[in-house]
Amino acid sequence: MSDAFPPNASRAPDRIELDTAAVKSGGACASKDTMLDAARTAGKSEILDQYAADYPVDPKAGPHDQPQSMCPAFGSLRVGLRMRRTATVLSGSACCVYGLTFTSHFYGARRTVGYVPFSSETLVTGKLFEDIKEAVEGLADPENYDAIIVTNLCVPTASGVPLRLLGKAINGVRIIGIDVPGFGIPTHAEAKDVLAGAMLNYAREEVAAGPVAAPRERSDLPTVTLLGEMFPADPVVIGQMLAPLGLAAGPVVPTREWRELYAALDCAVVAAIHPFYTASIREFEAAGRPIIGSAPVGADGTAAWLQAIGDTLGLPQDKVDAVKNTMIAACRGALEKMPIKGRITVSGYEGSELLVARLLVESGAEVPYVGTATPRTKWSDPDREWLEARGVKIQFRASLEQDIAAVDEYRPDLAIGTTPVVQHAKSRAIPSLYFTNLISARPLMGPAGAGSLATVINAAMGNKERFDTMRDFFEGVGTEHAAGVWETLPVDRPKFRKKYAALNDAARKASEAVGS
Ligand code: SF4
Repeated sequence: MSDAFPPNASRAPDRIELDTAAVKSGGACASKDTMLDAARTAGKSEILDQYAADYPVDPKAGPHDQPQSMCPAFGSLRVGLRMRRTATVLSGSACCVYGLTFTSHFYGARRTVGYVPFSSETLVTGKLFEDIKEAVEGLADPENYDAIIVTNLCVPTASGVPLRLLGKAINGVRIIGIDVPGFGIPTHAEAKDVLAGAMLNYAREEVAAGPVAAPRERSDLPTVTLLGEMFPADPVVIGQMLAPLGLAAGPVVPTREWRELYAALDCAVVAAIHPFYTASIREFEAAGRPIIGSAPVGADGTAAWLQAIGDTLGLPQDKVDAVKNTMIAACRGALEKMPIKGRITVSGYEGSELLVARLLVESGAEVPYVGTATPRTKWSDPDREWLEARGVKIQFRASLEQDIAAVDEYRPDLAIGTTPVVQHAKSRAIPSLYFTNLISARPLMGPAGAGSLATVINAAMGNKERFDTMRDFFEGVGTEHAAGVWETLPVDRPKFRKKYAALNDAARKASEAVGS
């Protein structure tokens, strides 16, 4: 797929551009390559090749043509922190761990994050691995834990710290060692899959080896495992839709408890609600489970999803038709009651952007653009095809510049996006909503999802006048370096910024050379 939008030349990227010749030669942006080379030399080629296959990026993309994700380890960290009886240990630079723990607790993690610090000496002598082993052995109490997740961040991954040597279990506690480097995994969404896939792999091997603990809750009906995080009411709504078909909603993966992994593997079919869980899907396929894409969103999406379930499981068509007809009527009724009128651009990094766009289109909105930081996969094809047939431009692996260019191009009535996209839209008096907090945190599925977005969307679009008032009020106070009220307007000094950026970069490379 070609880019829906080239990066917007009129907008200065939020990274300081260095000398272009150096960029082209890889000099100024060599950090990622340096780390990759170091990791390969240190024996991590196999896992890096797997990540490159699972989480592809455009090989022709330049150093700045990529999603601007937060630290990917945040994704896997959150997945581990949400699990009961699971301990989490990070190994990485103190600044990375500070940021990751801060963000985790900001988002309400209720568990301690373990940390094994390192110094140049412990890194180069191999003592770091011994320190990690000691920490894990001290923590591995089966009274308290089912599993311990040990995560190598960038520097330990680049240095080849061999977590696999920790073994599969210590004192009967499962040990899951994962490498989650920013230079190998493009987004935090995909890092969730790294951990979910690793746990499913472990659980699958346990099932193959003999009897395992029964899940806490288990339906007698064949189940549909739901892949991807969703609003807590969504699995309930999906369960209600499946009941007349003689099916039940199974666990949501990533799971909240180790035993749920067995139940997830023991399903009739897996619904890849979020389409980027490539490693997890590999485990389900290895367990012989069929996979379907998309999700029951809106009337069309719900009907197509129920049909895909029926086709995959060979259910009688009259039964499937009866459920479809009921759900189509319920969804249409809800959508008609809560219409959305206006032009909306959508961008985000959760993996559910296409589903949200479908719901908006069915609600009556004009959606000219959807950008997602996640890659295109065959599991997103049904949503991509449905949206493209309605004239929506879709940008996979969207960069911030592409998302912002879309806002500037389409001048929407509402921009749904990541924080910097929302900030950009607001600076142009365009109402906007943060995808993660305000859109992901609502039901999307079936009749309950139809119409649920309308309240927040229509309220936000109704604020246009307030944005105009604010823009007019602040008119003339300057922007960027000249923002504020000045007796003498500050002079911009781009050459200074460039010079200090180059000095900073040289210092960073010198410190990296020590680490590698
Ligand atoms: S250096 Fe690596 S581990 Fe640290 S914050 Fe950046 S991406 Fe995350």
